[in-house]
Amino acid sequence: MTVVINMRDGPDEGKIRIAARFILEGKLVAFPTETVYGLGADALREDAVRRIFEVKGRPPDNPLIVHVASFDDLKKVARDIPPEAKLLARRFWPGPLTLVLPARDEVPRVTTGGLDTVAVRMPAHPIALALIKASTPLAAPSANVSGRPSPTLAEHVADDFYGRIECIIDGGETPIGVESTVIDLSSEEPTVLRPGGLPIEEIERVLGKLEVQVKAKGVARSPGMKYRHYSPNARVVVVEGKGERVREKIRELIEEYRSRGLKVGVMARYRYDADGFFNPGRTTEEVARNLFRGLRELDKLGVDVIIAEGVEEKGLGVAVMNRLRKAAGGRIIRV
Ligand code: AMP
Ligand code: MG
Repeated sequence: MTVVINMRDGPDEGKIRIAARFILEGKLVAFPTETVYGLGADALREDAVRRIFEVKGRPPDNPLIVHVASFDDLKKVARDIPPEAKLLARRFWPGPLTLVLPARDEVPRVTTGGLDTVAVRMPAHPIALALIKASTPLAAPSANVSGRPSPTLAEHVADDFYGRIECIIDGGETPIGVESTVIDLSSEEPTVLRPGGLPIEEIERVLGKLEVQVKAKGVARSPGMKYRHYSPNARVVVVEGKGERVREKIRELIEEYRSRGLKVGVMARYRYDADGFFNPGRTTEEVARNLFRGLRELDKLGVDVIIAEGVEEKGLGVAVMNRLRKAAGGRIIRV
């Protein structure tokens, strides 16, 4: 049975206590963060964390992010915290930045996917912070079945997990809409492992030019990089380029797919005549916020193909294109 708790008006002490009790009993609670919804369990409890992997169908070597609410929490899960970590945490926490650090032995290796490092962040969402403070640091990946688009609304979580987890906290839409930026501080050079809700440019303003390693070449430093991701049921095709040429290409593709008897959905900022249409918004911030919702809504219309318009790779656009490319599994058309 799944208890859905309405907290759209913000954290409520009594309701937080109910959710925290589930966590302390080793159960699963989906909760909103400023990035996407997380599927949370007591990060220090092996049996609870194991269930996250089971219900998501997540490969056991793909580690989870531990969500903390204080610097004391951070010291409970990470050791040998380097000065860069302190600098970044002081500047960007709470916020959409995950730091990979050496893990304490107290953190079960189920949580870290078998690694000796742990990924940690402090979410900037009042409900997430209240839940962690009322319980314990939470291991929480995105609250979607592995491989599907991440959830930005409680309805998305329910679509994937209703009846299979104990509790969903409905806190309305998540404001950023893409997952956190992950940076590895456990080895010599700070390295960005995943672009996300905090633009890389902002981190570089603190640390200087950064190495960015988001493509899995050989052994992936971030295990999540090697898996299929963010994919709706429909096949996704991304069209990248400038202005009128993109519009022409999208129109051409719509016709081509339809002539083959396929149902076509389009996610773009201009309206197209197709079987489904979703406008993710004008600014990169809006596109980030609406991206996963668009993929899920077009999927619900039962389209066979989703044609998605690319965005400029600046600021949050880097994270958006990273998610779109993965959703498309390499089907990118540049015009
Ligand atoms: P998700 O929980 O779905 O947002 O995914 C978490 C991301 O963080 C995945 O891409 C993981 O591979 C990455 N990650 C988590 N822990 C580590 C770690 N200890 N070392 C490297 N990458 C990590
Ligand atoms: Mg995920």
